[in-house]
Amino acid sequence: MSFENLNLHPLILKAIIDSGYTTPTAIQEQAIPELLAGHDIMASAQTGTGKTAAFMLPALHRLATPSSVHSRGPRVLVLTPTRELALQVSESAAKYGKHLPRVRVVSILGGMPYPLQNKLLSQPVDILVATPGRLIDHIQRGRIDFSRLEMLVLDEADRMLDMGFIDDVERIASATPATRQTLLFSATLDSAIDNVAARLLKAPKRIQVAAQQARLDNIEQRLHYVDDLSHKNRLLDHLLRDLALKQAIVFTATKRDADTLADNLSAQGHEAAALHGDMNQRDRTRTLTKLRGGALRVLVATDVAARGIDVVGITHVINFDLPKFAEDYVHRIGRTGRAGASGIAVSFASGKDGITLKKIERFTGQRIESHVVPGLEPRFKPRTGTGGAPSVAHKRNRTWANDGGRSSTPNSANGNWDNSRSRSFGDNRTGTRSTAAGNTFRNSSAPGSHFRTK
Ligand code: AMP
Repeated sequence: MSFENLNLHPLILKAIIDSGYTTPTAIQEQAIPELLAGHDIMASAQTGTGKTAAFMLPALHRLATPSSVHSRGPRVLVLTPTRELALQVSESAAKYGKHLPRVRVVSILGGMPYPLQNKLLSQPVDILVATPGRLIDHIQRGRIDFSRLEMLVLDEADRMLDMGFIDDVERIASATPATRQTLLFSATLDSAIDNVAARLLKAPKRIQVAAQQARLDNIEQRLHYVDDLSHKNRLLDHLLRDLALKQAIVFTATKRDADTLADNLSAQGHEAAALHGDMNQRDRTRTLTKLRGGALRVLVATDVAARGIDVVGITHVINFDLPKFAEDYVHRIGRTGRAGASGIAVSFASGKDGITLKKIERFTGQRIESHVVPGLEPRFKPRTGTGGAPSVAHKRNRTWANDGGRSSTPNSANGNWDNSRSRSFGDNRTGTRSTAAGNTFRNSSAPGSHFRTK
């Protein structure tokens, strides 16, 4: 299957070629024909599978034909659980739609000033990308005309459900025309998601890609048993001094811990900064821009803040604290090993974490092998059956000490994929800057000329 076979508009195909993509990913191959045929879909696919293009390319294909309805309102609405994901979707829309004339993408996110958003919404909009809470505010104030809306995308619907946004999502959907095409993307398709789909979608085609296990194949998972906080801090310092670690996301349980740890790491001489939901949007955007540009080596983050971060330079994810939910573990470690590269995910576990660890291993169907750093061995002896036997630990420990990080060297699954990633990396940087400034992308025939800020 090639992109040429998918019958997308030639100007969209041109942008795909510019992005360096040669073949559609599994989700794209399955979803795009269904979407072009006008069907609703519900798809299980996580970030990293190419799901954004799977819905954005058919969305743009629709926009290539003018609407018959006279309105300035959005023709495509994408709802996302987090601001970061919304910004990435907006950037993708700008990237894939750059050759199409007059495609206007607006993002409406919580935490951004209302006057600017009011201004953006008073002008014609083609693609609106929004987080549900803030969008409801604008709908209630009568600022959005959905009369020409053709497509509604619920991105990471499971997350919107978890975060309590689903009532807002349903209220927004009820404000849009019943004739719309509806797409639902979710990491898992369970009964809760089925209920949402039953209310909002019409005879959806179900699409399932890559089992959990396959998605983690390019990520090496390691476990370090820890005695206490001071042991964790010493181990982390050791891991961060590994030259094979290019960029890392370190996860903590709370926002406060993220701030404290980022401060401590900076004091130890690491290029570190925190990212969490209590920061204002300007600081979050600035931190993410630094991360994408390579100016930040260590991001200390909480689960929600780090969701959707797609930075190819991230070689390591470190779970300073284990996540409460096994599903979050998969989301966390998926921040490394992006787009065909390999990655390393290190988890710290104390004697109290046995059950959590077991739940994670059951969820992924994979055992996390334990490692020991010489001189930083844990005092307590974990029971066997959790996380790897001591003999394995010792053997793995030698690998850890001697491989010089070989396994974290980006290991491209296919050259084109890597090539495309570095291009999109560049796009992301300009896109993010313009987003911070004005939160809008306007396409022009000179690709990206409106996005650059310097
Ligand atoms: P997503 O799952 O939407 O977060 O996409 C993951 C990454 O894959 C993004 O950085 C895209 O630029 C990249 N990507 C999407 N589709 C393709 C493709 N067909 N070939 C290569 N890279 C792709």
